[in-house]
Formats: sequence, structure tokens, C-alpha cells
Amino acid sequence: MSVYHDEIEIEDMEYDEDTETYHYPCPCGDRFEITREELENGEDEAKCPSCSLIIKVIYDQDDFMVGEQVIAVKNMKELELA
Ligand SMILES: [Zn+2]
Repeated sequence: MSVYHDEIEIEDMEYDEDTETYHYPCPCGDRFEITREELENGEDEAKCPSCSLIIKVIYDQDDFMVGEQVIAVKNMKELELA
């Protein structure tokens, strides 16, 4: 189990379109980082490269899923109902 320094909503993080990475200031002076790809994969831990702190990112994974994955989940649900 990870111990989070804090829990931050994705809306409160800063998005860098060039690197497709979300940032949030770390108390050590560096920044927590999590990439858009990690969010799409369901990852919710943003790590600071300069210290050992981790924050939990609060977000809705559906907002980050690409089309195919959404369809796959939908099909799974339909199979469960059948
Ligand atoms: Zn740090």
C-alpha cells in the first residue's frame, strides 16, 4: 500500500501539451508528474522525480480512455448482462 503525500484532482494539475504530462508542485521544489498515457492505463500515482513523495490523482478514467477501450468495456458489460 502506498502512502500518499496528498490527493489532488486532475483539474488542479497543470497540463503540458508538449510532453502530454500533468504537473503539480511538490514541496521539495520540483514537480509531481503523471503522463496522459499513464492516466489512460488507469495509473493514478503522480511521482516526484527529485524525492520519494507520491500523490494520488483524482480523475475519471472514462475521460482518458481511447475509443477502443471504451467499446471493450461496454461489450464486457453486455456479456455480463446476457
Ligand atoms: Zn519532490
